Amino acid sequence: METIGHFIDGERVAGSSGQTADVFNPATGQVTKKLALAGADDLQRAVDAAKAAQPGWAATNPQRRARVFMKYVQLLNDNMQELAELLSSEHGKTVEDSKGDIQRGLEVAEFVIGIPHLQKSEYTEGAGPGIDMYSIRQPVGIGAGITPFNFPAMIPMWMFAPAIACGNAFILKPSERDPSVPMRLAELMMEAGLPKGILQVLNGDKGAVDGILQHQDIGAVSFVGSTPIAAYVYAEAAKYGKRAQTFGGAKNHMIVMPDADLDQAADALIGAGYGSAGERCMAISVAVPVSEETANALVEKLTPRIEALKIGPYTDSEADFGPVVTKASKEKILGLVEKGVSEGAKLVVDGRGFNMQGYEDGYFVGACLFDNVTKDMDIYKEEIFGPVLSVVRAKDYDEALALPTDHEYGNGVAIYTRDGDAARDFASKVPVGMIGVNVPIPTPMAYHSFGGWKRSVFGDLNQHGPDSIKFWTRTKTITSRWPSGIKDGAEFSMPVMR
Ligand code: NAD
Repeated sequence: METIGHFIDGERVAGSSGQTADVFNPATGQVTKKLALAGADDLQRAVDAAKAAQPGWAATNPQRRARVFMKYVQLLNDNMQELAELLSSEHGKTVEDSKGDIQRGLEVAEFVIGIPHLQKSEYTEGAGPGIDMYSIRQPVGIGAGITPFNFPAMIPMWMFAPAIACGNAFILKPSERDPSVPMRLAELMMEAGLPKGILQVLNGDKGAVDGILQHQDIGAVSFVGSTPIAAYVYAEAAKYGKRAQTFGGAKNHMIVMPDADLDQAADALIGAGYGSAGERCMAISVAVPVSEETANALVEKLTPRIEALKIGPYTDSEADFGPVVTKASKEKILGLVEKGVSEGAKLVVDGRGFNMQGYEDGYFVGACLFDNVTKDMDIYKEEIFGPVLSVVRAKDYDEALALPTDHEYGNGVAIYTRDGDAARDFASKVPVGMIGVNVPIPTPMAYHSFGGWKRSVFGDLNQHGPDSIKFWTRTKTITSRWPSGIKDGAEFSMPVMR
């Protein structure tokens, strides 16, 4: 059986810790590969290679750095099918969905082709007599990224594309669940012309993460995953003097106003609630119809659509969604569905008994729909991260607005309405980072920044877009005066420009 090692100094290497984890095919429940878990020696090797390569890369002019990404985008397109199938075989999502995962990362690589412009500095001529002042953006040095299982192509690229384009070396610690695509992404970056040592993939678990957080030569850490780990990584990174941005879990609501087109809203809820088996941080997991009449009509439209969903392995091109990622994940989801029933929510569509013929050991969960969910229930408070949609009925707009406002998470939210006033009021008032108006999954394009509010994020700069250039660079401001502008004699008072 193949053992996946690490990608260090431009090549695949075996790990030296002797520890491994299993990689599964979620459709069959079978172990398909072993994964080396990095120890301190592996991390040090990666840091040493990064330290040796980074100054030369930072000194490479930005147009040449951009050209690596031009070639890389081409390589991603050329290898799309192979990458998508590999991704699906470890994640479980459909091949078409995996292509979307790769495409949204590819778009970040396209965005950073603009690095000569994006990293340009600011200049003030004549800030004082004979004095010019300018600010430049220099790379942090060595950056690290710790990524979740649910987007093993897109999220690594959110991080390493801007970090590397800015002149940093980067160490990626992908999820243990689906490490093969991140390894291929690093190989393709090399094929595109990236010098060795600039992008390394260090596979591992908590031990590798803690090693990264504590390493004094790593200057910045980006994390995406669940909220408890995001909070931990943020606190540890700060403790060790690192710049950090950490992104956590979500509970995304969709408000459906009485004037909305209910067929459109129902279709949007099906795609956003059940696509990728609900394992997206921007999945809609709560529908909030406003008024009893809207709620009754919406549930009536949702029910047959959910019952008709086709579940299957990634090899089935007709499947709407596949299995969830692990056995533990399946058990957690089913446990929460049981909890919802015992809490008194009405299980309108019951996917608990779903059996995928021929794949009895796979981690398949049938689609579930809950109605009459209330905000004190655990199924409302907790992120389920599975194919489970909850309907929380609101009597009016204010009650609907209060739900995402008061929820612990604030990643994404949507409103379906034909009323511009309501949409504008909602977008202005709701304390959530990404808002969709008649758009169910309002994930910003690569040239805008991505990030939530409240306990969906710790730190202040978001992923990709303009924020990413700020996160992966440090500002240096230079004040200069040439001898002809200097008056003789020392000055002891605070220098001011008069
Ligand atoms: P996770 O938190 O279990 O793992 C994320 C990363 O942290 C992995 O690389 C893992 O190896 C590492 N890790 C796990 N436990 C650790 C520990 N105790 N100490 C240090 N590191 C540890 O998350 P996951 O299950 O892979 O991903 C799903 C979660 O990610 C969901 O909560 C989802 O909402 C969230 N997510 C958020 C966003 C966002 O942008 N806000 C995007 C995608 C996913």
